[in-house]
Amino acid sequence: MTGLHPQTRAVHPPVIVPEGSEPVGVPIYQGHLFSFDSGDGLAAAFQGPDEAFFYGRMGNPTVRSLERAVTELEGGAGALATASGMGAISAVLLAVLGSGDHVIAQSALYGGTHALLLDLAERWGVEVTFIPGDDPAEVRDALRPNTRVLYLETVANPTTHVTDLPAFTEAVRGRDVLTVVDNTFTPILCKPIEHGVDVVIHSTTKYLSGHGDVVGGIAVFADSSVHHRVWKHSLELGTAAAPFAAWLTIRGLATLPMRVARQSASALDIAGRLAAHPSVTRVHYPGLSDHPQHEVARRLLPDGAGGVLAFELAGGRDAGGTFSEAVRLIGLGPSLGAAVSLVMHPASTSHRQMDAASLAAAGIGEGTVRLSIGLEHPDDLWADLEQALAKAA
Ligand SMILES: *Cc1c(COP(=O)(O)O)cnc(C)c1O
Repeated sequence: MTGLHPQTRAVHPPVIVPEGSEPVGVPIYQGHLFSFDSGDGLAAAFQGPDEAFFYGRMGNPTVRSLERAVTELEGGAGALATASGMGAISAVLLAVLGSGDHVIAQSALYGGTHALLLDLAERWGVEVTFIPGDDPAEVRDALRPNTRVLYLETVANPTTHVTDLPAFTEAVRGRDVLTVVDNTFTPILCKPIEHGVDVVIHSTTKYLSGHGDVVGGIAVFADSSVHHRVWKHSLELGTAAAPFAAWLTIRGLATLPMRVARQSASALDIAGRLAAHPSVTRVHYPGLSDHPQHEVARRLLPDGAGGVLAFELAGGRDAGGTFSEAVRLIGLGPSLGAAVSLVMHPASTSHRQMDAASLAAAGIGEGTVRLSIGLEHPDDLWADLEQALAKAA
């Protein structure tokens, strides 16, 4: 470009596309727009999630790297990365549901998902039936001719209820029902698509990014036609993941299997120590033999039951509040899956307005504490837990 004015040159720097060698890591493509040599090329790019890149809301090379990586980890046909876990859940449900459709969902759901389903029921004419998720017969009883979605979570929060995914997908086999599973708690440990699930969702905010520095989500599809359908609706909703968030998540994926294995092993260790402590009346961890779905967990999560556990303090609401403020190494916060350990006492924080009866209906006790185990040494975690338990006693 000779003969141009500096003002023009300034806005047209050379864009270097590597030739003759390739980057080893995934580059961050921060630019939102790609140009074409031909109108036909641009027209083709509008057709689906695997075409050429043209505008950041429709696709981005860094984001697609993340989508391909997680597709392979989950054994799917394609994926859609989103700006948050709720973005993935909303994109999927709003893409596949219409007014008059029926959803069967387990009752112990992530709070945001529960709120979305209630909103769809109140304002958009979607019918919702909540089931405990203990027995696939609940699904057979709830099925209607207009049932379109069965929505489950591999491990639920904070009860650590485990859903028998193969049995539940079997209950809707041969019907026009999409099974959607939130697998946020058990990446690597469980691959729901192998158990007949159609759509797997992760809040990548949690284990997939794993360092507490990203908000993001992803939906992985067993079938590319569902992927295309949800991608089209995601353009209307504007759920696209940002390139830098996708890049941080890709960085997190490198250590995901090691982190999750370590966190699972530490969680089992801490769960055992808590179960033997006099101030603790009960521990909820699928890896313990007294857990109600321990047998399901052994089949579904043979390599570890994840890094999240919950326990009941004998002292109830007051003890829970004191305990969660007394931890030093462990942070008090409503998230999980990070390198740092976190506690959460729902009755004095997120669920403060609820009385004992409404808490119980949500599967939460007044003294229930959730613990997300990080990557610290389990002896250091135990020392912190022990001193906080002593203060709460
Ligand atoms: C955090 C979380 C979500 C929501 O994810 P965001 O990234 O916060 O939008 C959904 N499901 C589960 C199980 C979660 O833990």
